Amino acid sequence: MQKHQPIAARGALAERGEPFTVITETAPIAAATHGGRAKCLQRLIRLGLPVPRTVALSFDAVHEIAAGHYVDFAPLIAAFGEAPLLSVRASSADPDWGGPGAILNIGMSGEMRDRLAGEIGEAAANALYLRFIHAYAVHVARLDAELFDIPEQPDQGAIERALVVYEEETDEPFPQSVEVQLGEVLRSMARAWEGPTARLLRQARGAPPDAGLGLVVQEMALGLGPPESGAGVIQFVNSATGEPQITGRYLSQAQGREALLPGAKGAIYLTRDPRGPSLEELCPKCFAELVEYGRICRERLREEMQIEFTLSAGRLHVLDAVRVARSSRAAVRIAVDLAEDGIISRADALLRIPPRALTDLLHPQVDPRGKRDVLARGVAASPGAAVGRLVFSSTAAQAAAARDEKAILVRRETTPEDVRGMHAAAGVLTERGGMTSHAAVIARGLGVPCVVGADIEIDQRERLIRCADGRVLREGEVITLDGTAGEVLAGAAPLLEPALDGAFRKLMDWAEAASDIDIRANADTPADAERARNFGARGIGLCRTEHMFFEEDRLGVMREMIFAETPEDRAAVLEMLLPMQREDFLKLFRIMEGLPVCIRLFDPPLHEFLPHDREGLRELAESLDMPIAEVTRRVEALSEFNPMLGMRGVRLGITVPEIYDMQARAIFEATVEAKAEGAHVVPEIMIPLVSARREVELVKTRIDAVAAAVRNERGQDFTYRLGVMVETPRAALRADEIAHHAAFLSFGTNDLTQMTYGLSRDDAGRFMSAYVKLGVFPEDPFHVLDTEGVGELLSIGAARGRAARPDLTLAICGEHGGNPESIAFCRDAGYDYVSCSPYRVPVARLAAAHLALRDPRRGPGAGAAG
Ligand code: PEP
Ligand code: MG
Repeated sequence: MQKHQPIAARGALAERGEPFTVITETAPIAAATHGGRAKCLQRLIRLGLPVPRTVALSFDAVHEIAAGHYVDFAPLIAAFGEAPLLSVRASSADPDWGGPGAILNIGMSGEMRDRLAGEIGEAAANALYLRFIHAYAVHVARLDAELFDIPEQPDQGAIERALVVYEEETDEPFPQSVEVQLGEVLRSMARAWEGPTARLLRQARGAPPDAGLGLVVQEMALGLGPPESGAGVIQFVNSATGEPQITGRYLSQAQGREALLPGAKGAIYLTRDPRGPSLEELCPKCFAELVEYGRICRERLREEMQIEFTLSAGRLHVLDAVRVARSSRAAVRIAVDLAEDGIISRADALLRIPPRALTDLLHPQVDPRGKRDVLARGVAASPGAAVGRLVFSSTAAQAAAARDEKAILVRRETTPEDVRGMHAAAGVLTERGGMTSHAAVIARGLGVPCVVGADIEIDQRERLIRCADGRVLREGEVITLDGTAGEVLAGAAPLLEPALDGAFRKLMDWAEAASDIDIRANADTPADAERARNFGARGIGLCRTEHMFFEEDRLGVMREMIFAETPEDRAAVLEMLLPMQREDFLKLFRIMEGLPVCIRLFDPPLHEFLPHDREGLRELAESLDMPIAEVTRRVEALSEFNPMLGMRGVRLGITVPEIYDMQARAIFEATVEAKAEGAHVVPEIMIPLVSARREVELVKTRIDAVAAAVRNERGQDFTYRLGVMVETPRAALRADEIAHHAAFLSFGTNDLTQMTYGLSRDDAGRFMSAYVKLGVFPEDPFHVLDTEGVGELLSIGAARGRAARPDLTLAICGEHGGNPESIAFCRDAGYDYVSCSPYRVPVARLAAAHLALRDPRRGPGAGAAG
């Protein structure tokens, strides 16, 4: 505590008008000058709720107090009459920014104790005084709470002991005047707000660095003494689900929020309850009044509020009301219910939910109330939580799934061969990688929680991981993976299940109606497609077909195709894959019936399909009936120095055209079959990794030929749309000439970011955090779209493409597609849709609605072509 303030001359305060304002219906109080609590109290007063007399201190006044300038508190105290008892609470502009805790019973002194003893009894008066000495000593004089002993039934002796401790520790007697007490309380709270810790904490919650603090000084409603006195807290919805439900507690002979303290002895229910007594029975009139106040607050403040109340000698006082704390799920339910009851508009309901909060609804989460024993931290690559046993290979993950056991797959990094294991695993943990490494992209697509680039060391041979703190975990041990927080926890942490209830669906429908940019999903499998539809995707924007070739019954055929000597042999082998591919596409068309499905032709380099260890090479030699040396030679011949910049995508499509021929045929035959079943299908075919117009011409000629052949053979007409994936800077720069041959351009921002920066997406994790920390990049560009560099290519590509072909559909399908910031960028650049993993569709959908509601210049549906 700062004692005996050197009081500066009256400073700026006097020039800025009244530092204290009694809150009345008409007083000039605003959240921007006095904080949210002061404004809310004024609203409660206007609604006729019994709020004790309250005075608000403005941000400016509190700032001056913190700076040590002279402030005359006499007029403030005079507003409460002779010898008042007061409380002080913080009032920041946004209640979520926090602030110092409330201090009650200011004004308690020996004299006041004696006076109150006559009114409310010795015991209650002693309790009030001792509580205040304790609160003042700890929060204002900053003494250690342990120094004080607070007996359940405090007597004069306890008070005297506390006063002695106070004086010994501070070298001053406990202040007896309300002026001194209040002045010190206000100064202490004002200073606490300006301290560096509080500043950092609130900035982390989104407050600006110069956020102000207001304070409210309120006349105490005692809550102690006879007849019925006490305090409680009531709310009218369940904080976890948002369902209507009266919850809270009331405690006789108590103050503030004591009834809610864990283990508060004697706290009773609010509504009648078979488990014990309730306020409804104890004081039916007060209970009925509280319910009525709840209704008034909901309707007039247009919000679900939690009310803090006190019974003082049987009279009800409302001390404060705050927005009910709520989970994301409850936030959705509350907003939708308020809109359904006509209290707020649908637009308001949408705008009240931060898009990213929806992620919590789609996956299980670690229960925030549980204990967290953090073993390791990494990049939060795919949200949700999973508990499972550690396994170190994809085969082990699949074996665990076959036994119905949950497994967490741990790998140094994953490769396409791990996809099946990742599918089988409950969670994926890697030592290497960043936001767009293989593990991260696949896990998000699968909806599997994933942490990459974790601070662990994997010993694959011993099948164990070493954590930074020295702990060692072996195969079979249970851990919890928190992909939302990017943490690995010891043991099985309690989880909360996801909930997609009616309120969520309604909100999604309203969001779609309000949006002017479409949201599609990246979906490779029927399960993905089902999920995408379920989450409200308006089609598939990217079906990566290569995963289809990793299925067990196909990998062998793929390898045979790779080893074929002549184009004819290759085509013959691919014939075997044709019916399987056709079935893959038919399933997707059926599920997405009526919505567009955009299929990307084969993209990865061929060597990804070949074994890399001796055992695998031997097995392959056996199945191909070839000498192992020959197999090894051929595998080596296919290896590349930079496979991601090598023979993949359209380059492979042109050099080994039989693959695209087979895929095109499978797409067209599936289209004919789906049509025969009555499904409306206009397939979209997308060519990956294009960098030159001629590439598109060559592929287009062959695909057109396949289409003509299928039309002829089947005697059925159909149309299709051919598009180009813009993943190289050159394709963006030459978008005009490329657009002549393409109905749509879909920007693959994963590769485009990689190539614009010349930065491998699989290796960026190694130094990305250092780069971001040093401010080289503001964010990981694989995670948050680099609107300056990559974004310029998106804008150039869009403008040049549209100039050449005004009806060109523009889209983005990289991982950035699901980010609210990227959606804003794409909308501004005139894109028609974004495509993201099914699990990110709801977030993208709501973000798109927010953009259209905040800036309705395009008008609903304006860009929803694709
Ligand atoms: C991309 O490069 O942005 C893309 C979507 O393709 P992939 O991630 O499969 O390379
Ligand atoms: Mg790509």
